[in-house]
Amino acid sequence: MPKMAAAQRVVAELREACATPAARLAEVAAAMAGEMEAGLAVEGGSSEMKMIVSYVDSLPTGGEEGSFYALDLGGTNFRVLRVRLAGGGVAERVAREVPIPPGLMSGGGATSECLFGFIASALAEFVGEEEEEGGLDGGERELGFTFSFPVHQTSIASGTLIRWTKAFAVDDAIGEDVVAALQAAMSERGLDMRVSALINDTVGTLAAGSYYDEDVVAAVILGTGTNAAYVEDATAIAKLHPSQLPASNTMVINTEWGSFASPCLPLTEFDEALDQESLNPGEQTYEKLISGMYLGEIVRRVLLKISSRCPSLLGGAGELATPFVLRTPDVSAMHHDETPDLSIVGEKLERTLGIRGTSPEARRMVVEVCDIVATRAARLAAAGIVGILKKIGRVDGGEGRRRRSVVAVDGGLFEHYGKFRRCMESAVRELLGEAAAERVVVKLASDGSGLGAALVAAAHSQRA
Ligand code: ADP
Ligand code: MG
Repeated sequence: MPKMAAAQRVVAELREACATPAARLAEVAAAMAGEMEAGLAVEGGSSEMKMIVSYVDSLPTGGEEGSFYALDLGGTNFRVLRVRLAGGGVAERVAREVPIPPGLMSGGGATSECLFGFIASALAEFVGEEEEEGGLDGGERELGFTFSFPVHQTSIASGTLIRWTKAFAVDDAIGEDVVAALQAAMSERGLDMRVSALINDTVGTLAAGSYYDEDVVAAVILGTGTNAAYVEDATAIAKLHPSQLPASNTMVINTEWGSFASPCLPLTEFDEALDQESLNPGEQTYEKLISGMYLGEIVRRVLLKISSRCPSLLGGAGELATPFVLRTPDVSAMHHDETPDLSIVGEKLERTLGIRGTSPEARRMVVEVCDIVATRAARLAAAGIVGILKKIGRVDGGEGRRRRSVVAVDGGLFEHYGKFRRCMESAVRELLGEAAAERVVVKLASDGSGLGAALVAAAHSQRA
């Protein structure tokens, strides 16, 4: 077979293996709803999804008042913020982003003590500067902690780490109470502050979303990783002990859907190899198909195969063999290239992969690979959202249903990757059908995870 044809074959096979026709997506949505159900029945009821009880049994009302701190840890940066809530809205908000040194996230020197010590130091510095400028209005300092990894929650302000995901692998923290670890690191540094709430980014986005719009029923994160939370009827949570039933009869559930796995997911040889060589083989199957940490890496693996079949097409490989050199923002930039000669694609290939002088057909092929991988991701994410809506009975377009169902979405992938976002939104409509889709709103809710932590801390404040 001529080399060019061999390269085209790789793409054609990829397209077929990644196909997500509506019927397939409906199966994914049904499987998602089924796993949710199983995970609510008994602890460990779903081997895939944890369906964690968040202990957030009431969402902010809008009437919260006072100054609160929040800490948001979950990606490559963490953020510290202070917000002043003034009864009818957010009166003031100051935030700072701090990059985490890679050596603290994984590898030999990554210990729980070092990681939480680093975080507490950055927080102490922020508090020092904030209050010098007359930040706090009396009372004990309280903090909402957004920690976006699977945690076995034991109360609103305690929980033990089940496992790391994304780029984190700090072994000695597993099984540890992350609030106690943070609290200890803070007092060691003389920082007097109480952690009033432990949540994750999905619960934070849900809290912040419903602060502004009372029809928010679920929140989804599409950033470095992916996850979702939603408001469940507490009586539907069979694993909840009757003594734990909240007066509100509602409970926010953190699905941990990133670990969803099912035979109906369209997996390819590239996904399998990526998984095997990842920090967490065998885990987070759904996340590895759809989130920002992985899309670039999937594309890289496909391009590497194309280049091995047809070296002249992608300039003898360049840096293509290096894991994670191609990032999802690069994929997004190439996918959106509308220049007549695909010059952005050419530039990206040269700058990020060291592949020079690519032909128009090579560039077109690269765009096609980006399209296949991003389309599969966006459509699978849409199926997940529909799975949640199914679980809470919001997919019928019946005349009786007047109430909107709003899904708040946060994360850099959804926010900045236009084609991904539009593809996901149209797949949600396609799956729901026009009548039901009319009452479902998927909306960007930027930056809710930090604000949400402050809001949940306010709602669970110990202050008199
Ligand atoms: P995190 O998920 O780490 O809390 P964000 O929500 O900001 O942080 O998401 C960051 C992720 O979003 C990045 O890891 C990247 O995968 C993705 N991302 C950021 N910018 C873009 C972009 N322009 N196009 C596609 N993906 C992007
Ligand atoms: Mg985030």
